[in-house]
Amino acid sequence: MTIDLRSDTVTRPTPGMMEAIINAQVGDDVYKEDPSVNELERRVADFFGMDEALFFPTGSMANQAAIKLHTQPGEQLICDKWAHVYNYEGGGVSFNSGVSCKLVDGDRGMITAAQVVESINPPDFYHSPLTTLVCLENTTNKGGGACYDFDEILKIKAVCDANNLGLHLDGARLMNALVATGQDPKDYGNVFDTISLCFSKGLGTPMGTVLAGKSELMKNAIRIRKILGGGMRQVGFMAAAGIYALDNQVNRIKEDHKRATEISDLLVTLSYVEKVEPTETNIVIFYLNPEISEQNFMSYLEINGCRISNMGHGKLRVVTHHDFTDKMCLKLLKLLQDFK
Ligand SMILES: *Cc1c(COP(=O)(O)O)cnc(C)c1O
Repeated sequence: MTIDLRSDTVTRPTPGMMEAIINAQVGDDVYKEDPSVNELERRVADFFGMDEALFFPTGSMANQAAIKLHTQPGEQLICDKWAHVYNYEGGGVSFNSGVSCKLVDGDRGMITAAQVVESINPPDFYHSPLTTLVCLENTTNKGGGACYDFDEILKIKAVCDANNLGLHLDGARLMNALVATGQDPKDYGNVFDTISLCFSKGLGTPMGTVLAGKSELMKNAIRIRKILGGGMRQVGFMAAAGIYALDNQVNRIKEDHKRATEISDLLVTLSYVEKVEPTETNIVIFYLNPEISEQNFMSYLEINGCRISNMGHGKLRVVTHHDFTDKMCLKLLKLLQDFK
């Protein structure tokens, strides 16, 4: 039994999902003739109460398309220093949109309205790039699955409105935040201009992210997706997996959170662990005491059939997911307890 906790992207489709994939109605989505894709896009748009949605192969492409929709070359977006759009999308912000990032020193990947205000370049000061977009992430990836306080999001929205800035949400794990906090997805749809939602993380499909947004922005999204090479044909097989996940695999996300909390609760009691970040959803970030070799710890786990990620600078990450069972959780807890 290998226990892979490097990411929540390592899951395989469940038998029910496989059946939905096999039985999917499909067509050529480049002609917008795939009924399953059209249905998933409508479902996600309605979920957020937004005008339109578009299916993308990956979360990175959906975020990159959103940034392109909101900006012109030479402009600047504001995001946290740990943001996925800045750190883990291959420099796409500059490659695809010719845009730079003003990095904010946030808390566990989350920024405040006051920090956004400080980061806006004065629009008349033509020496500096024009600030046009704010990108938030919820939950935060590098920030350890932290969930935004919705009141802070509302304050950030007010700053965006007062300063003519677009507001994009990298909601790769927004479903985790919604399940953990009980927030209403329509509140998110009201506040953000665009939202990306990944299906290949907690929702457990093989691929796909849906970008939802206001129609005045989204009318260009299909062209940007084509330019980025993301026009897909009978991709309804994958959209059907997404519809299946929305119908059957949302509620179970709370089990991922429960297991992550169990791991986190144990880690704080272990003498070789220096610090554990607060665990709010399915990501646990922790640090070992300086005298413990990370290499030894990681290979101890590996030899015993368990893989986790090292995010550098002493940051170790465990991500729980659909294929991580109670039995595996017990085994991991024991392994952690037994480490010397
Ligand atoms: C996983 C993830 C994405 C999308 O990544 P892809 O690998 O391109 O699907 C975007 N943002 C965050 C915060 C993520 O964790």
